[in-house]
This record gives sequence, C-alpha cells and structure tokens, in this order.
Amino acid sequence: MGSPQQRYQQILCKLRESNHKLTPQRLAIIDILVHSRSHPTVEAIFEMLQEDFPTMSLATVYRNVVLLKSLGEVLEIGFPDGSNRYDGNKPYPHPHAICVRCKKIVDPDLRALGNLTAQVRQRTGFKILTHRLDFFGVCRDCLQSENQTKGVGR
Ligand code: ZN
Ligand code: MN
Repeated sequence: MGSPQQRYQQILCKLRESNHKLTPQRLAIIDILVHSRSHPTVEAIFEMLQEDFPTMSLATVYRNVVLLKSLGEVLEIGFPDGSNRYDGNKPYPHPHAICVRCKKIVDPDLRALGNLTAQVRQRTGFKILTHRLDFFGVCRDCLQSENQTKGVGR
C-alpha cells in the first residue's frame, strides 16, 4: 500500500475531498495509525496522545477512528469482547496472526491470497466483497517466556 508517509498523504486527501477539517488532534491520530505496526485499540491511541493533547477525550479519538473507517482508510479488526483493533497501514482486508496470550497482532507477509479469493468465488459462485482471515496462536515472545518459567520450575 505504500509507506507511512504516503498513507498519511492519502488519508489527508480523502479528508479534504470529503470536506472534513484537518484539526491538530485528527492529524495526530492519523499519524499514529499510519506509523503503528501494533494494531492499536482506540484506548491505546488515546493514551499515546495524552501528553500532547491532555484535554482530548477518548470519545474524540473514537469518533475520528470511526470516521476514518467509514472513509475506508482504516481497517477494523473486531472482537466479540469489544476490544477492537485498528490498522491504518493496510486499510484493505488482509490476514492477521493474533497471540491469544498477549494480544499481539502481526501481519504475515502472504502473497497467495488473491488466488484464494478467486478460488472461493469459483467454488461458491459468490461475488466476494471482503474477507477476514485470522490465525490464533502464541507468539514467539510468549512462547519464550513460557519456556523460561518452566525452566525455573525444574
Ligand atoms: Zn504473545
Ligand atoms: Mn494488519
């Protein structure tokens, strides 16, 4: 999709086209979304902005993320418990690997997916609009600390 800087400019263009103001708060939220690789929650974005914007509310961050989502500039990774996560680097559907221990979310670099969508279309006759492909597991860091804990126990 391009570098964080390109994403930032793309989102600014989209906001201008749709007559949305480029407030300092909004720009700061976009800056975090395009640079973050961690798929932050709204709360995490809010916390990162506390220092620079101490008067900004959680609701403001939430409204801005919802706006960017409605413009197709942020991908929401929703969870039933409401702890939704957001990807501003890649606003289009893509697979994720999710750690069930520490809730880390990473983007595996897969190239076969276009092919997979075509196969689903062929086999089902569906016109495919979007997809969601999540892999749940335990990340390397969590595996390592689990092994260390086991070692201490022995
Ligand atoms: Zn983990
Ligand atoms: Mn992602």
